[in-house]
Amino acid sequence: MPKHHKILIIGAGASGLMVANRFRDHDIALLDANPLPAQKIKISGGGKCNITNKHLSPDHYLGDPDFIAPILRHFDQNDLLNYLKDHGLTPILQKRDQYFCPHSSQELITLLTKNLKAPIYKHKVTRVTRYKVKSVTKHYNHFIIDDKYSADILIVASGGLSFPSIGASGIAYEIAQSFGHTIVPTAPALVGLTLQREQFWMKDLSGISLYATAKIGSKRLQGDLLFAHKGISGPLILNTSLYWQKGEITLDFAPKQRLDKPFFNSKKHPSSALKLPKRFVKAFLHASDLTDKPLYDYSPTEQKQLQRIKSYRFAPAGNFGYTKAEVTKGGIATDEIDPQTMMSKKCPNLYFLGECLNVTGELGGYNFQWAFSSAWRVEF
Ligand SMILES: Cc1cc2nc3c(=O)[nH]c(=O)nc-3n(C[C@H](O)[C@H](O)[C@H](O)COP(=O)(O)OP(=O)(O)OC[C@H]3O[C@@H](n4cnc5c(N)ncnc54)[C@H](O)[C@@H]3O)c2cc1C
Repeated sequence: MPKHHKILIIGAGASGLMVANRFRDHDIALLDANPLPAQKIKISGGGKCNITNKHLSPDHYLGDPDFIAPILRHFDQNDLLNYLKDHGLTPILQKRDQYFCPHSSQELITLLTKNLKAPIYKHKVTRVTRYKVKSVTKHYNHFIIDDKYSADILIVASGGLSFPSIGASGIAYEIAQSFGHTIVPTAPALVGLTLQREQFWMKDLSGISLYATAKIGSKRLQGDLLFAHKGISGPLILNTSLYWQKGEITLDFAPKQRLDKPFFNSKKHPSSALKLPKRFVKAFLHASDLTDKPLYDYSPTEQKQLQRIKSYRFAPAGNFGYTKAEVTKGGIATDEIDPQTMMSKKCPNLYFLGECLNVTGELGGYNFQWAFSSAWRVEF
């Protein structure tokens, strides 16, 4: 006989732990494939977890803003910060607008797990570790999980496909599909981009980083770009990967400089006139068939060639893949989820939270905020 619980949660990650805390006075089983909870929190933000962001809005997410906005408003960054403070954790503001754990990600994991076994509640949350869910069916009003567990309410908080090395699986999409949901095609996101042959000159610059901007469709992004052995990476490119599917992006490698008439009226060489790493400028010149000579010696055609440093258009070849991607974009179509409760519109008492939904945030704490906001929206 399957062991019965009122609520069964798949995934002891960010959203699963938060929803377990909210309903911890109920009879809950929390199943996870890993021996330890919230391994993504553990490794995130350089070990300090970038929990949320001062500037929260649907503009920082890929997904339907009409679905995302009320869920974020219901439990926004201030609600999250207050919740954490009430439970003894005061995140610190860094990099202008990002909140991190003061010392280590473990502080957040401890906060999210310590009350699950507190004796003051009627029930203890039953934590089952090292348990990888394979299938879910419904029999009358009960969800049956691998013929081992059954539940009245099933909450799927099992995340996306990124970082399979720490337990990620596509189980949320499989469950959703089996109950008639549509899956928006998934892809790695917040990930480095690989290059086509014409851009291989960038590979020799591995380790160099510079401030740049990117234009992709109507989206304009800014931040640091890092040249890597496999392609290009860094915060600017990770955010670009969120909005890139196929086709061209345009990079401005020198957004703070104007390459106008006065710039070319100089005896300086590009490698010293451009406020960029010299190795980068030399590689750019070489790839553009230009020489590092006084700027006033540049012909109009050469000037145009050099000005491409501010509007460098190219089509990336692909990305570094799920093993390196911080998140998975795409996922369960949100028009089939009730934004008032997070319940499936296809199957009563079935809920989906966090990254498995077709909502993906930029870098900067937006994905944990989404995981926590969606967990706070659950109503039975
Ligand atoms: C390296 C890295 C750094 C990141 N840094 C940040 C950051 O600083 N800020 C930020 O906002 N976001 C960050 N993210 C993204 C963030 O971690 C995720 O968006 C977030 O954890 C998603 O929360 P979730 O609750 O949906 O899923 P998760 O937190 O991924 O939890 C899902 C849980 O489900 C379990 N699971 C999966 N399949 C099964 C199965 N079949 N059976 C049982 N259990 C299963 C997993 O083991 C996991 O514990 C980072 C991600 C990575 C990979």
